[in-house]
Amino acid sequence: MDVIDISRREERPAPRRRNRKEILARRRKRRRQMMIARAIAVTFALVCGMGLGAMTWKVITLLADYGDAPQETLSQEQEREELIRENNAVRPVIEENFLRMNPYSRPGEPLETVKNIFVHYTANKGTSARQNRSYFENLGTSGETSASAHFVIGYEGEIIQCLPLEEIGYAVKSRNYDSISIECCYLSEDGSFTDATYLSLVKLTAWLLNEYDLSPEDVLRHYDVGGKKCPLYFVENEGAWEDFRKDLKEYILRGKISG
Ligand SMILES: [Zn+2]
Repeated sequence: MDVIDISRREERPAPRRRNRKEILARRRKRRRQMMIARAIAVTFALVCGMGLGAMTWKVITLLADYGDAPQETLSQEQEREELIRENNAVRPVIEENFLRMNPYSRPGEPLETVKNIFVHYTANKGTSARQNRSYFENLGTSGETSASAHFVIGYEGEIIQCLPLEEIGYAVKSRNYDSISIECCYLSEDGSFTDATYLSLVKLTAWLLNEYDLSPEDVLRHYDVGGKKCPLYFVENEGAWEDFRKDLKEYILRGKISG
């Protein structure tokens, strides 16, 4: 028997026909929802994109830094090599007047290697190169203290050599066995050198660097080892010390300084 039950069909309520207003309202609502969803998605994508971009940038700069680092040290090394290779500074006029052998200023021990050149000031304003040499000489008699330097530069630019370069002096406690020391006289309260002293210091240092295959970086202040305020002006005026090293480079490369 094939009976179609039509009663149930009749129970179902007829679908209500929406009027045009309702349809339009629903469409507007849906469109608004879509727009909000799209705005949220775009904002999310932007934030993610920015974050990713920042991370990528960071990685790129880190990689670039990593790539730069060895190049920088290489160029510093190249500059050092150039300054050693190009240095043909000649020996300036030097008055050799060695101290007599004594345990306080000329012990006569061999100086077998030279790694640095140290710059000092006499800490005795207005005294001459000759007077400072005499002071070292007299220590041999007085035994007051141990002190000396290979060179003393006077305020008129004169250079006196007190010790042979094959022997140690007593100038930088921990470094007497691998360095050469230069004492500088001065007239100013602030410890700055006269132009004549400064120029002789540049010439003498350049020649010593040439003799030992060293570069201007190897010239140090007494202050750099042990922290003593010596030479005073170059300790209190870091810029003046940097300028000295620049002048030294210029002298090595061009044979003169512009200052
Ligand atoms: Zn010193």
